[in-house]
Amino acid sequence: MTATTLKNVRPMASAATDLHIVDGQFVADAPETAETIDCGGCILIPGLVEAHTHLDKSLLGLPWYRNEVGPRLIDKINNEREVKVSLGLDPQVQSERHAILAMSHGCTHIRSHVDVDTHHGLAGVEGVMATREKLAGMIDIEIVAFPQSGMMIRPGTSELMDEALALGADLVGGIDPCGMEHDPKGHLDTVFALAEKHGKLIDIHLHERGALGWFSMEEIIDRTVALGMQGKVSISHAFCLGAVDRGYVTGLHEKLAENRIHILTTAPASAPVPAVKELKEFGILTGAGCDGIRDTWGPYGNSDILEKAMQVGMRNNLRRDDEMELALDICTFGGAAILGVDDYGLDIGCRADCVLVDGETLAEAIVTHAPRKLALKGGKVIARDGECVLEAP
Ligand SMILES: [Zn+2]
Repeated sequence: MTATTLKNVRPMASAATDLHIVDGQFVADAPETAETIDCGGCILIPGLVEAHTHLDKSLLGLPWYRNEVGPRLIDKINNEREVKVSLGLDPQVQSERHAILAMSHGCTHIRSHVDVDTHHGLAGVEGVMATREKLAGMIDIEIVAFPQSGMMIRPGTSELMDEALALGADLVGGIDPCGMEHDPKGHLDTVFALAEKHGKLIDIHLHERGALGWFSMEEIIDRTVALGMQGKVSISHAFCLGAVDRGYVTGLHEKLAENRIHILTTAPASAPVPAVKELKEFGILTGAGCDGIRDTWGPYGNSDILEKAMQVGMRNNLRRDDEMELALDICTFGGAAILGVDDYGLDIGCRADCVLVDGETLAEAIVTHAPRKLALKGGKVIARDGECVLEAP
């Protein structure tokens, strides 16, 4: 038996108390022999949930990449396929570096999209699966087989997606059925057929804006209803929900809520974003993620989901403390619910995945996002003073 007592800690910024952990779970009492950790009155929150990223292709640990990529989505996609080869990018090494960086900030769960294409085959999925195995018990990693380069415009990819799912990918990914694939029926029928065949959930990248995105979203909703996949489909980015025409968006919100389709926002500075307060009002589960970081797409990002909570706040004009708490809820409980983590939280019986953060209130902890004093996964220390206990390769 392992036992720990977190002394003088403030769960979700409430009054200071002691919390007990036995064999990785929060319990009412710990034996007197329990190891004690003095938390110095710091706030404790559940482990941060990175619900949308790309572990296979950051450039962490490599020399600075000079970005001279064209402006279109397809420019970035085509460039990346080539650069992965010229840099000799190893998805196992990169995903381990990336996951360890996330852990240093107190992240305990990751959903990662991983490229599947005819250039690189299943190398990405195999690499991230190896990292998942290596870091088991320290962080949970979910893998989305992601046809980044398209399936309709790149024959042979859907067969590889099928293999990736048989190999161990957890979800079926998809991407811009109209804007990129120019074949919404072909693309979405393939995505949903793969999900049905393998009994997997779906998470689709939808960058399409305005009416094009609305059309694709309606097509996703129709298939979710037809196949009875309510609660099993997520849409990432969903920039079209940030459109100015709120009348149409409200109609979509109603359908998304009715069919329990979840939204994952990356709250970028450069695109319209789903309005998180409206999503909450409609009861639509919402999570957040950093998306790709430090990669051939762009130089930004550090894999800190607490900082992402601040960006969700900034992009949604959240100023009040209760609004900031919503941003944090999205980056913790929202993501965890979408990832299907059922023993998540700080209550008795929950798995002791948690982070000590600095601040008088939750809002202050978000805007400060100071280096995390301590992060635990199943009661085990994974990070201290902003450093992961594991060394990156
Ligand atoms: Zn993405």
